[in-house]
Amino acid sequence: MPELPDVELYLHALRPRVLDKTLQRLRIVSPFLLRTVEPAVDEVVGKRVRELRRLGKRIVLGLEDELYIVIHLMIAGRFRWKSPGHKIPGRLGLAAFDFEDGTLLLTEASKKKRAALHLCRGERALREHDPGGIEPLEIDFASFSAALRERNHTVKRALTDPRILSGIGNAYSDEILHRARLSPLIWTSRMTEEQLERLHAATREVLSEWWARLIEQHGEAFPEKVTAFRPEMAAHGKYGKPCPTCGDPIQRIVFAQRETNYCATCQTGGKLLADRALSRLLKGDWPRSVEELEALRRS
Ligand SMILES: [Zn+2]
Repeated sequence: MPELPDVELYLHALRPRVLDKTLQRLRIVSPFLLRTVEPAVDEVVGKRVRELRRLGKRIVLGLEDELYIVIHLMIAGRFRWKSPGHKIPGRLGLAAFDFEDGTLLLTEASKKKRAALHLCRGERALREHDPGGIEPLEIDFASFSAALRERNHTVKRALTDPRILSGIGNAYSDEILHRARLSPLIWTSRMTEEQLERLHAATREVLSEWWARLIEQHGEAFPEKVTAFRPEMAAHGKYGKPCPTCGDPIQRIVFAQRETNYCATCQTGGKLLADRALSRLLKGDWPRSVEELEALRRS
C-alpha cells in the first residue's frame, strides 16, 4: 500500500504535470471505484487543479469551486502518466483523468477492487476523509507520545492505525520498528519514556529518509513502480535475509493476511514471536483486514 513517502513521491511527480491544468475529462470504467453520487462527475470536469495534497494515505486534487477528488489507492492501486487521451488498459484500468498534456491513469493490479474515489465539495466535506491521525513529521515528542499512549495497542498496530498516526502502513512500520530496535508486539501503555523517544526519532528518520530517497531515485520521471518492497529496506519483505545491522535472519509473523518482519536479535532480545499464543494476543488488537484498518475514523 502506498504510504507517506510513496504518496509524497506521487505528489512530487503530479505537481508539474497537473497543477494549474484543467481536468478535461474523467473516464471511470470500474463500477466499484466511485463511492459518492454528489457532486456528480460532470461537475469536476472543466475545472482547474488548484492544489495537490496528501490526506493520510490519500491523494487529494483540489479543484476550482472548492471541489475535491480524493483517491485512496489501498493495496494495489497505482498511477501511471500517459499521452493525452490514452486508452484505459482492459483488466487493470479503473479510471483516466485527462489533462491537456497527458492522461493520469488509475490502475489496480488485483482481482479484489479496493481502491476508492470520492468527490466532495468544501473543506468541511474533505475533512470527513481525514482519519484523524497526527502527522508524524510535523509533531514534537510530547504530542507523539500522547497520541501513542491514548489507546493501548501493540506498537505495530498503533503505528499503522490511521486514527493515531497519518500515512504509515505495514512496510514503513516494519522499518521504523527495526530502526528503533523495538518489538512489534510491545504494548504502548508499557513503553518507557526512553523507548518512546527512540520510536519518535526512528519514525521521523525513516519517513524523511525514504521521502528524500524516493524523490532522488525518480528525479523528474513519473514513478511507474511504486512498491512496498524495496531493496534498501532493512526488515520489510526481507524474511530469511540477513539483518543489515547484525547479520542474523529476518523473522516474520503472519497474521490477518499481513506479514510483519523483524529481527529477533535487534528487536526482541532473540525471542521468536511466531507461536499460537501470539495469535490469541493479536486477535483482540488487530483488525481482520486492511479495509477494516483503513476505514477507522476518530469518533
Ligand atoms: Zn538484527
